[in-house]
Parts: sequence; structure tokens; C-alpha cells
Amino acid sequence: MNSQTLIIYGILIGIPLILGVYAQMKVSGAFSRWKEVPIASGITGADAARQILDAAGIHRVEVLPIDTMLGDHYDPSSKKLCLSPDVYNGSSVAAVGIAAHEVGHAIQDERSYAPLHLRMAIVPITQFASQLLPFVILGGFLFHFTGLITLGIICYMVLTVFQLITLPVEFDASRRAKVILHQMGIVGTREETDGVNDVLDSAALTYVAAFVASLGNLIYLILARRSSEE
Ligand SMILES: [Zn+2]
Repeated sequence: MNSQTLIIYGILIGIPLILGVYAQMKVSGAFSRWKEVPIASGITGADAARQILDAAGIHRVEVLPIDTMLGDHYDPSSKKLCLSPDVYNGSSVAAVGIAAHEVGHAIQDERSYAPLHLRMAIVPITQFASQLLPFVILGGFLFHFTGLITLGIICYMVLTVFQLITLPVEFDASRRAKVILHQMGIVGTREETDGVNDVLDSAALTYVAAFVASLGNLIYLILARRSSEE
């Protein structure tokens, strides 16, 4: 590896990696800070989710507790909204922020928000690509087999498109959450608003980092393939 290749590698792989670690630290920092700040309305994450769903006329979505920390998600296929213990039972700024964000996804589903359905549609091929990827990359570089690198490029293209579509889905869910929390009076004070913004904006940064990482890998592989042909 010459020094020029090393610099390119550092930019395409190293910077996204650092951004990813920074985003993870920021999101867990924001969560641990704001889960200690009680919400004045005294509502739990689970109750906030139920109230917002009912206010939006979405009665068929179930709000359920799960054990995974920060594993909060909305599952569009089963219509289940799953909240982690601190969010489900907590009546904190972080809990209502995250609960409202997940309801944002349920509302997207209900209103047939196009990016959400597009994202759902490409989940199977994305899973296939990410399972294939380690073997493809290892094989491609060990045996200098250009065909495998090309396959790796296709896999990263799929992943990059997936991460790109994830961005509007996540930003939109958080935008909806912030508006609804205010409209319904669940969040009132300046401090609560700042807390919800901090938690949701940090979470959004992790999705940006994932996209940048995927794009960095894609460009790197394209360059690697080109240099292997020379
Ligand atoms: Zn989300």
C-alpha cells in the first residue's frame, strides 16, 4: 500500500468510522442524560405512544415492552410498536421523545409515506447483500478476484441506497414527533424541548454516519477495482 492509497483509505474508511463512533457516543450520552430528567406532564413513554396513536386515529397498532436497551422500533408488518424498558416505563424527556419518534413511523405507515414503503420493500435484498458482503470482500482481496470485488460493489450499492432512503424516513419521524409532542402538550418547557431535540437529533446523526460509512466503502471498492485492473 503506497502513501497515496493510505490517505484515500483513511478518508473513505477512517473518517466515516470516527463519525460513527462519535454519533454512537452522542446518542447514548443524550439518552442517559435526558432519561434522568422527568417530564412535567408525568406521562410514561408507553402512555405517550398510546395517546398520540389514538389522537391520530391509529387504534390497531399495539404498544409493547421489549427487553433490548435502545431497541425501540415500529414494525410495519406486524403493526407493533416496541419500546425498551426505560422508554416504556419511564416518564422522562428521553422516553417521550423516543416513544413519539416511533409513533412517527406508525403514522408514516398509516399515511402510506412513500420512503417508508420503499425502505420496507428493499429490506430483504439489503439483508441478503449484508450477509454476502464479508465473504465477497474477503475473497475479493485474498484472491485478487475482480469478479468478487464487482459483486462487493453491487452489495455496497444496495446498502448505500438503503441507508439513503432511511434518512428521510428517520428525519420525518422525528419532525412529526417534535410537532405532535408540542401540539398535545406532552412537552412544554424550553428544557424539555431542548432535551427532545438533543435525543432525536443525536439519533439522526447515527443514520447519517451509517450512510457516509456505506458510501465510503462503496467508493473505496470502486477505486480498488480500478487499480486492480491497471
Ligand atoms: Zn426511527
